Amino acid sequence: VGDPALRVADTADIAAWWPHPGPISDKYTRGVVGVATGSAGYPGAALLSLSGALAGPAGLVRYAGSAHELVVPAHPSVIAAPRVAEAGRVQAWVCGSGLGTDERAAGEVRAVLAAPVPALLDADAITLLVDGSMAGELRRRDAPTVLTPHDREYARLAGSDPGEDRVAAAQKLASWTRSVVLLKGDRTVVAGPSGEAWVNPTGTPVLATGGTGDVLSGLLGSLLAAGLPAIRAAVAAAYVHGLAGRIAAESGPVTAVDVAASLRAAVASLTRTL
Ligand code: AMP
Ligand code: MG
Repeated sequence: VGDPALRVADTADIAAWWPHPGPISDKYTRGVVGVATGSAGYPGAALLSLSGALAGPAGLVRYAGSAHELVVPAHPSVIAAPRVAEAGRVQAWVCGSGLGTDERAAGEVRAVLAAPVPALLDADAITLLVDGSMAGELRRRDAPTVLTPHDREYARLAGSDPGEDRVAAAQKLASWTRSVVLLKGDRTVVAGPSGEAWVNPTGTPVLATGGTGDVLSGLLGSLLAAGLPAIRAAVAAAYVHGLAGRIAAESGPVTAVDVAASLRAAVASLTRTL
């Protein structure tokens, strides 16, 4: 915390950054987010990441992946296709949770990396980045990239555990990968490639349950699609995700579905507390 580049996000920051529609907005100008998550083996990851994306400020959510037939009954406002290449135009991609690590999944990660729009890579996409030797594709990207590792995914990317100094760990990986790194945990750290770093104060241990990371990725992708700079999108998503965990915990034990359902109340609370 002696680092002058380190900041703690507060409600005023997030409320000021959060995009809202205006009178001349339409669903496209609000941003279109593409979600490439889930698979036949892990369809729930698709539904959870879409729940996160639908709670964000983007105007339209597209889904690309093999859970496409399950997605539309669960989320009728989502436009679904089997693959990234068939999904249509988006302003940001979210890729990875529950995707699997087979050839098909690797092709989808490559398609996302090749898209000239901001991209968030999580979970299996992080594994495929490393195992599929996609570091070159990652470094060649012009559009921003966001990586959202938990500790084991961090170790896969960096070759060693984050260690004690989690801010330095996130900064190091952000600099190597030229990406925004959101290192998950009790106090989630967000670092940018130029050394800027933020700590999220809203985390709660109730988030330590399956699927909450998928919800976070969808929400963050929606903020990217709405045009927020990648570092702000990551800081804002972690902040609101933590608030949603706290709100959900008020009525009992928390699942990822409850966190997703509390995101709207969390967003609404941003402006109420100002
Ligand atoms: P994932 O591991 O991808 O499902 O993501 C887990 C989510 O829960 C991330 O947003 C983490 O920051 C959050 N989380 C996990 N454990 C804790 C904890 N002990 N305290 C606060 N947040 C946590
Ligand atoms: Mg995860």
